[in-house]
Amino acid sequence: MSDDKHNLSSAGTFTKLSHAGRAPREFHGFVNTPVYHGSTVTFPDVETMMSGRQKYQYGRRGSPTTDTLADALSALDGAAGTVLCPSGLSAVTTALLSVLDAGDHLLMSDSAYDPGRYAATTVLNRFGIETSFYDPHIGAGIEAHFKPNTKAVLTESPGSLTFEIQDIGAISEVAHRHDAYVIMDNTWATPVYFRPLDHGVDIAFMASTKYVVGHSDVMIGTVAANARAWRKLHTYHGSMGLCVGPDDVYLATRGLRTMGVRLARHFESALKVATWLEGRPEVAKVLYPALPSHPDHALWKRDFKGASGLLSFVTRTPSLDAVKAMLDGLSWFGLGYSWGGFESLAIVADPRKSRTATKWDEPGQLIRLHIGLEDVDDLIADLAAGFDRLNAVAG
Ligand SMILES: *Cc1c(COP(=O)(O)O)cnc(C)c1O
Repeated sequence: MSDDKHNLSSAGTFTKLSHAGRAPREFHGFVNTPVYHGSTVTFPDVETMMSGRQKYQYGRRGSPTTDTLADALSALDGAAGTVLCPSGLSAVTTALLSVLDAGDHLLMSDSAYDPGRYAATTVLNRFGIETSFYDPHIGAGIEAHFKPNTKAVLTESPGSLTFEIQDIGAISEVAHRHDAYVIMDNTWATPVYFRPLDHGVDIAFMASTKYVVGHSDVMIGTVAANARAWRKLHTYHGSMGLCVGPDDVYLATRGLRTMGVRLARHFESALKVATWLEGRPEVAKVLYPALPSHPDHALWKRDFKGASGLLSFVTRTPSLDAVKAMLDGLSWFGLGYSWGGFESLAIVADPRKSRTATKWDEPGQLIRLHIGLEDVDDLIADLAAGFDRLNAVAG
């Protein structure tokens, strides 16, 4: 959906964010596509009903509300099509099950989102799909892990806990030579900062719960595919009866319109916080690819247009009690899962629990921060006071 006078494909990212998927003239000039609540769609006559040619036929299979979001995301990703799923995790499983059959082998990054790992090693395993894990730094070396039945590679770059950047182009080149699909979790960068399909990815998904929605109020996943994978994705998604309620789709579309400016602010503030953290004596390591000190900074710079608001750091002290004292007393950072909203968040996490191909041997505690849209000086002061509490316990 979009007005004919626009040439979206040649437009810039911010223009696409503002205009893609909208067609005001179809809705009496109203800027936003209305929220269509509907299961049944009626037909003017039996002939039309039997022809299958009416644009909308049944609520589960889409409406102008869902098309607006899907079309806007397809324009951003340069995709053949996009489907909507009820959560980011269902986007992971939808991407995987669209292309995998019984007897297939899946290669998954060791840094991938943990619940996706769990789904692969339990449910997919039950259906005869075998998963093995690879070092996210593997690049073209992934060739050695290919088996005759390897059908897909699941990448996530950077890993959303440990922030390794993957050489997506090199991995895609190998995978395509083996006739396998490349799938990418692009939740961290979004197509504003990295367009997976331009780097050889066949299916790119996001937990749009995060930056697309942007306001910590809706669960939704989105999956975009290139021409090679679109039919498989569309067929699987339709067959499994996946759909998202129109109010949630509307809120996700509303969030998308401002995602570019929000991301720019997240990037600016996160880089300031990351740089400040690097200068702190309590910090052993900051994990944020936009920092020149990050081991994958060159790769990030080559492939990405920016960085979002999520980063981690490792404390020098291994004391969990010291970290609890720091985090429990934070005033602007909430303690909570998820991220991508307007507000700042912190968690403490242990990557050891979800690694099999690589070893995480940092002695300190890993703290992940989401840097929200607050004044960055307030956030830094909050963290500085937190380090005082940490030092009081760690000594
Ligand atoms: C949150 C998240 C998911 C899952 O999304 P939900 O909407 O919470 O189900 C998947 N991948 C990444 C990287 C995430 O951060």
